[in-house]
Amino acid sequence: MEEAKQLFKKLKIYSLLDLALIIPQSYNDTTLSTALEIGKTVTLEAKVIDSAVRNGKLRVTFELPSFHGRRLSSLFFRTTPYHYKLFEVGSRHYIQGKLEVYNGYLQMPQPRSVKEIGRVTPKYKTVLKESEIRSLIEAYITEKNLFDEGLDSKEVGVLMRLHFPNSIDDVYSEGSLKPEIVRVLKFVEAYNHLKKLRGKRIAFPAISALTGDITPFVEGLPFKLTEQQQQTIADIRSDLANKERAAKRMIVGDVGSGKTMVILAAAMTALPHKSILMAPTSLLALQLYEEACKHLPRSVRVALLMQGKEEGDYHDADFIIGTHALLYKEDLPQAALVMVDEQHRFGTVQRQMLEALVSGEGEEKPHYLQFSATPIPRTQAMMESELIDVSLITTTPFDKKVSTKVIGKPEFPVLLKHIETEISENHQVLIVYPLVEESSEIPYQSLDEGRAFWEKRFEDVYVTHGKDKQKEDVLLEFREKGNILLATTVVEVGISLPRLTLIVIVGAERLGLATLHQLRGRVGRNGLESWCYLFSNVPQNERLQKFCQTTNGFDIAKLDLKFRSSGDIVDGTIQSGQKFKWLDMTEDEAVIAQAKTRLGALKLGIRN
Ligand code: ADP
Ligand code: MG
Repeated sequence: MEEAKQLFKKLKIYSLLDLALIIPQSYNDTTLSTALEIGKTVTLEAKVIDSAVRNGKLRVTFELPSFHGRRLSSLFFRTTPYHYKLFEVGSRHYIQGKLEVYNGYLQMPQPRSVKEIGRVTPKYKTVLKESEIRSLIEAYITEKNLFDEGLDSKEVGVLMRLHFPNSIDDVYSEGSLKPEIVRVLKFVEAYNHLKKLRGKRIAFPAISALTGDITPFVEGLPFKLTEQQQQTIADIRSDLANKERAAKRMIVGDVGSGKTMVILAAAMTALPHKSILMAPTSLLALQLYEEACKHLPRSVRVALLMQGKEEGDYHDADFIIGTHALLYKEDLPQAALVMVDEQHRFGTVQRQMLEALVSGEGEEKPHYLQFSATPIPRTQAMMESELIDVSLITTTPFDKKVSTKVIGKPEFPVLLKHIETEISENHQVLIVYPLVEESSEIPYQSLDEGRAFWEKRFEDVYVTHGKDKQKEDVLLEFREKGNILLATTVVEVGISLPRLTLIVIVGAERLGLATLHQLRGRVGRNGLESWCYLFSNVPQNERLQKFCQTTNGFDIAKLDLKFRSSGDIVDGTIQSGQKFKWLDMTEDEAVIAQAKTRLGALKLGIRN
């Protein structure tokens, strides 16, 4: 056992199914061949009729009784006395080797003498010795063990055949693994992964069960909540009502899918207990605070807490909204619900500090909700929902009227005209450059180089970028007075710019689809007709063309995955390859669903 443990460690595997998924690289088949296939490895019955040494090499001539006594000659380059003895004239053998033909004579260089015929022996390619891996497989891969893992008889059958085949035809057809075997391997891979994740989630009791009434809030809204907003709120309410288990849920919805309303409904549910909401920037915190004041009933006490600005008294507020300044307040009251908006924009350090915020006192923890505007493929959400519950909001309250076009240099004059039109209608334009300063590595203008052109032609051109300390002030001023904003991709435009109707992304093919989607999400926030121009030197780029055809972030996440797994270079780095050997995260949603069902996961499943 101890020995096996060491070997598992060397193989870097942690479960029985990890071992079962190490499948043979090839098989050695000693079934007697029924045909003399030139160029193939064959196994033949053979009788030695001559044996001679020339220039230190042993030449043995065989006769093949199963093939009308045809002759075959073999040359042994590396010989030992053992070979001379073994291949004595008159002796009979089963020989295995590659069959060749030379001047019409059959040849088999350096054949092996096979003791037992009719055996199929798997060959594994691992860091272990052949004998070590084989002893592990023989000891652990048994029908009983596989059934105990929760596999069904078909899956057990397939794995047993892979590791202990009776014939090569059990495993391969036309030189590749049979489709039904691949299908089982996909399933086992998904199932094994989910099973490991499931063991990792620890449930803590909640500080309180939260069941506050949300009707006063819902009825006060100037619009009806969308189906998916309602569904997500229902998911959350059922989480929060549970005292036994503190909620841990991620709500993923595209920019503009109306997550703020879900946040406010959660804060209502927490009443009369306190809730805290943290946002990544002051602008966003301020915006959330304004919306909370606007939509929550007057009786709810809302406070804002950020560096250099506080509204209301957070000590006795029902709902505290703030930035990471929250993390440094030592007298922050204990909340029964903690929420984080745009959680994808927090750094690792802040995320760790957040843990402290939700650590609670003793065993009991506040309910915890994370909101993210980075859509993830459904397959990934299904996997992640083992660790954290997931709600997906895949629709938006109103259809966004955004047309996306890939353009190149020839279309520039048309673009210029269009920009003039938008500005004349009191709309705003955002132009995104790949870099602040000139670089020889990028075949596009930088912000610094492009700037003069716009400033000469247009009034009220604003400029900002990621490292700009005045960024937030520039954005606020631009929102009120600007025509054109020049920025770089790293600039996180955290506020909504309702008059923004046209965005130009320079060198778009250099960016990942997720990034392009985030940028495009800046325009048309309030239902105004909008345009996204992808300026590129390679306008026929397939990824960009596909991107133009959809505005749904979840479809884009799936597309992104597809292009990534095909090894596309995105954002200047090669994306790390597939995490799974058999499972295809772009295609195998049904397999993952099946694996989740097998684990009895329906109760914990994601919803959308
Ligand atoms: P997100 O945070 O998901 O990006 P927001 O919560 O900021 O989106 O909502 C975007 C806009 O949609 C806001 O102006 C908001 O008032 C509006 N909105 C939200 N829900 C609805 C709804 N059900 N019907 C109409 N408009 C809505
Ligand atoms: Mg939001």
